[in-house]
Amino acid sequence: MAVERTLSIIKPDAVEQNNIGNILAMIQAAGLEVLGLRMLHLSRAQAEGFYEVHKDRPFFGELVEFMTRGPVVVSALAGEDAVARHRTLMGATDPAEADEGTIRKAYGTDIGKNACHGSDSVENGKAEVTYFFPEYLLK
Ligand code: ADP
Ligand code: MG
Repeated sequence: MAVERTLSIIKPDAVEQNNIGNILAMIQAAGLEVLGLRMLHLSRAQAEGFYEVHKDRPFFGELVEFMTRGPVVVSALAGEDAVARHRTLMGATDPAEADEGTIRKAYGTDIGKNACHGSDSVENGKAEVTYFFPEYLLK
């Protein structure tokens, strides 16, 4: 197994509910290393670009609206098998189906407002980290 990079986004619902620290604590307790961290308010263009892959899905408009309604916290994570480990830590997309001990079980509300994002493949992990963090910012 190799050291991978993956992107975490603490979504606007979790920021509004003061769960930034709780979610970062879960990420760090899981042994994922935080290489970079930024709080920002996504523009519509940034959110649309980030979720381009979902542009034909019926929930795309709602997703972009939600992701731009307030600030988010993006972090570049690293570790052995980081992509899959972070996805396991997040839990299922729908918090109602997420396992106990996962971020979405603890802090998600519904399938749209589900507290966090995580890259879903090694390739997307690299691309998504680069989307928010120029390489020179990371060690
Ligand atoms: P994941 O975030 O678990 O990788 P997807 O990539 O399938 O899930 O979807 C991206 C995001 O779009 C989800 O995290 C969620 O915020 C939103 N979303 C997914 N499915 C729905 C849906 N049926 N209704 C509303 N929002 C959705
Ligand atoms: Mg996804």
